Amino acid sequence: MKNKSLVQAIKEKIEFSIRFKLSVKLVRMLVTTLLAAGIGVTIVFGVFNLKESVNHNYQQVFTILNRENAFSSNAFALSPGENNYPELKNYAAQNHSPVLIFDRAGNLLWGTEPEWAKFKPKSWFRFIRQDNSFFFIQNQEALVAGTPIELVIFTDISPNLAAIFQFSKIIFIILAVLALPAIISIIQSGKGIFHPIRNMTKTVKHISEENLNLRLNVSGSQDELKELALTFNEMMNRIEDNYNRQKQFVSDASHELRTPIAVIQGYAVMLSRWGKDDPEVLQESISAIKNEAENMNELIDKLLFLARHDNSTFVFEKEEFSLTEMLLDIIKETQIIDSTHNISYDINQEISLFADRNRMKQAVRIFIDNALKYTPPGGEIKIGLGKVGLENDNNNGNNNDNKYIAINIKDSGIGMSEEELRHIFDRFFRADISRTKEKGGHGLGLAIAKIIVLGHQGKIKVRSKKGAGSEFIILLPERG
Ligand code: ADP
Repeated sequence: MKNKSLVQAIKEKIEFSIRFKLSVKLVRMLVTTLLAAGIGVTIVFGVFNLKESVNHNYQQVFTILNRENAFSSNAFALSPGENNYPELKNYAAQNHSPVLIFDRAGNLLWGTEPEWAKFKPKSWFRFIRQDNSFFFIQNQEALVAGTPIELVIFTDISPNLAAIFQFSKIIFIILAVLALPAIISIIQSGKGIFHPIRNMTKTVKHISEENLNLRLNVSGSQDELKELALTFNEMMNRIEDNYNRQKQFVSDASHELRTPIAVIQGYAVMLSRWGKDDPEVLQESISAIKNEAENMNELIDKLLFLARHDNSTFVFEKEEFSLTEMLLDIIKETQIIDSTHNISYDINQEISLFADRNRMKQAVRIFIDNALKYTPPGGEIKIGLGKVGLENDNNNGNNNDNKYIAINIKDSGIGMSEEELRHIFDRFFRADISRTKEKGGHGLGLAIAKIIVLGHQGKIKVRSKKGAGSEFIILLPERG
């Protein structure tokens, strides 16, 4: 069992190790190159070796034939004769290199080995195997006593082949000796290349929920690996950021929910103790519980909205409607509910919008509610509606191409510091001053308004100064 798992482990390492695959590839390339080189050198050597022997034999045969007056006009009769060309016969026997003479019709006239007559002249040289030896056969036309004949000259090349084989053996041994250090260095080189990868793997293995802050070391790695490490680190930054935000969100949400629950519990206890006898306690408890329940309901609605937005299950249901009408409605409702502020408006043109009516109303209400919440009684709240050019919030935009619809909500309230302004769109952010009970905000309003406005390709601009009021401008593209 243990052996099997070891074999399995080795097999897996081999199958999945890039280093192993790369080494095999490089070694294969090296061996193929060396083999090709060895074969090439052997072929060159073989050709020269054979050529020399064959030429030598050919010249010897012709020298002897000349010496024996084979080509003179009164040479021997062309009839086969046992005793013709004794020197050639002698040479052929000694060198194991027969010579045959054929007429032009392919009939054997004479030969040192007449029984080899089957090897008739051909127009091209040949290699043959005969009597356990290899021969190279050449043909040569000639005139004997004025009659054209064909000479077939055999060269025994068995010794050459043996020499070539011997030569190739030496060459391949030399190449193998040369290849060995190269192969070792190929295998070794893999170690260095993959060392950073192994380190990266080690680090990545250690990353868990508890230490999301671990990052790959990019100082040692190079080129593509460095890029990979940087990309991974960037991805981890985003994941960690997201994770922390989620964690913070859950903790803030539970904290926000705990407060109304604690209040309700407190009043319930009070009710059970004194509520039955004391109508004042009864009334106070009932209205407090009602308030807190409403508060909790509102908070849960907001949390649900954010959660649905975060997991992208939220969709805007857009339609064409009159923004002017919607704003006037909200202003009227606000004036009825709030009589402590001086609410005025500057809305004198009909503007229609293609958007999610309910969500847009929710967003505008958030800004107006904030203006009311953060403006002391007697303060001013001005609401405006108009059109401005792109990147221009001064209400004098002449750019007709990309016009924006602008909703202004201006108050003369407490205003915000620069530091606060940087965070007002963060979830659960509340400036210290607004953490008081009577303001009662959860710090989610602007985060929700931002999602709604951005979801309509809009923008929000804020101008504010501590103690001097604030102005929020919602910019929505005219062609929704
Ligand atoms: P909240 O429910 O607390 O009002 P918001 O997300 O709507 O939450 O606002 C976040 C914070 O931004 C507020 O707590 C407040 O400090 C600040 N803020 C928003 N609007 C205004 C305003 N018009 N004037 C002054 N401060 C504001």
